[in-house]
Amino acid sequence: MPKSDTDARTDAACTTAGIYRSDCADQERVTLAVGDGFPKCPSCRKAVGWNLVVAT
Ligand SMILES: [Zn+2]
Repeated sequence: MPKSDTDARTDAACTTAGIYRSDCADQERVTLAVGDGFPKCPSCRKAVGWNLVVAT
């Protein structure tokens, strides 16, 4: 079964600092630190999933 890397969603707390990409069509990127809350997508303003791109 393929591993999903969508492990974060809007309003969840960030547990791995890094750059995340939204899983909506916008593919927005945000940089978060541990303890930050995942935002809504800045473009479509919906609650979205965030995929870790690069851990920092
Ligand atoms: Zn979006």
